[in-house]
Amino acid sequence: MSGPSAVRAAKNFLDLDPVELPAELEELRREVRAFLHDEIESGRVTPHVDQWLAGWDPAFSRRLGERGWLGMTYPRQYGGSDAGALARFVVTEELLAAGAPVAAHWIADRQSGQALLNFGTEEQREAFLPRIARGEVFFAIGMSEPDTGSDLASVRTRGTRVDGGWQIRGTKIWTSGAHHADAMIALIRTEAPTENRHAGLTQVIVELPDPTVEVRGVRLLTGEHHFNEVVFKDTFVPDARVLGKPGAGWSQVTSELGNERSGPERILSTLPLLVEAMRWIAESGTQVSPARLGELYARLWALRQMSLAVAGRLQLGEDPAVSASIVKDLGTQFEGSLIDAVREMVDVEPDYASAHALPRMLAEAVLHSPGFTLRGGTNEILRGIVTKAVGSA
Ligand SMILES: Cc1cc2nc3c(=O)[nH]c(=O)nc-3n(C[C@H](O)[C@H](O)[C@H](O)COP(=O)(O)OP(=O)(O)OC[C@H]3O[C@@H](n4cnc5c(N)ncnc54)[C@H](O)[C@@H]3O)c2cc1C
Repeated sequence: MSGPSAVRAAKNFLDLDPVELPAELEELRREVRAFLHDEIESGRVTPHVDQWLAGWDPAFSRRLGERGWLGMTYPRQYGGSDAGALARFVVTEELLAAGAPVAAHWIADRQSGQALLNFGTEEQREAFLPRIARGEVFFAIGMSEPDTGSDLASVRTRGTRVDGGWQIRGTKIWTSGAHHADAMIALIRTEAPTENRHAGLTQVIVELPDPTVEVRGVRLLTGEHHFNEVVFKDTFVPDARVLGKPGAGWSQVTSELGNERSGPERILSTLPLLVEAMRWIAESGTQVSPARLGELYARLWALRQMSLAVAGRLQLGEDPAVSASIVKDLGTQFEGSLIDAVREMVDVEPDYASAHALPRMLAEAVLHSPGFTLRGGTNEILRGIVTKAVGSA
């Protein structure tokens, strides 16, 4: 592609005007900071790296729910605060930057609730959304399977029609939080595969625990248990727990990915490490290159502006799939290079068991980092999305 269409496509992607946050959101930011300061000072929260995957703390989630900081994009009739995507952005970026334990509610608040709002029945919305907004019900994502990650259309978990619902058999993998979650939205095949690989897929809500669902832990490099292999052994899902239309799972799941990929968690997983390194540098009087630090902050700030612009698009009800892919690709690379930069700047050995914050966080960051560019769609897949969009512009 060359000439005007290339220019038009490029403009499309780069048309991420900096978003000015209204004054009331800066007030909200101050409130969240004060709350987090209190949580950390009182010892209720200890900052860690990558807490949106690893920090499972239902009591903390409930405290956020009490303040109206969950379900911020949901209508009030379902227990949300209807504050919008930008307000949610402010709250989530403060939580992530502080290394607060947000994993329990993260998936439900970010995408399962949104999927219920978009495709759920009235009964499903009423059953789940108010409890998600109170931090009482947590969800897992059942997309990936042992032979199906990037090529999601090839899922093999099978739903067979039975009286009053579907009987499902198959295996999901890398299912974050399934061992604690109250429900999982699983993508299953409910019709035999045809030439149209995207047809015949359905999303179902599987409530957990269930005696026919075996949840086996898969350990991270650190030994932590965060994700799982989940085996459905003829699990019964009633019709009332089918999400959206049977057979329409592909378009539903791909619209969900826009929410999954667009947030500040794709930039800020390792930011608590930088905060801790800056404290250590200041206290130890270590000399660091201002240019190196400046480069890091410039990248962070540019990415943050791009992520904020994606939140602005969500607020306007637009689908930010392509710009979210760009931000996630660049943002997850930044999360990794932040670790390299810290290792260059401070003479500290990573030590996962250390009682000191910096060596511990360095080890957490190094050992969690292989997942950054994989989870939620690999960077190669994201670049494929961008390339296709350029090609069709
Ligand atoms: C920390 C973490 C948490 C996760 N949590 C969940 C979860 O809660 N629920 C869930 O369903 N899944 C989850 N996943 C799974 C994640 O979505 C998959 O790992 C990811 O989609 C990649 O799939 P895969 O692992 O099967 O790799 P594969 O698809 O086998 O890919 C292997 C390699 O080949 C490359 N590749 C594949 N296809 C192409 C292509 N067409 N073009 C170019 N390169 C290609 C990939 O980029 C990758 O480098 C999680 C993963 C991680 C790391």
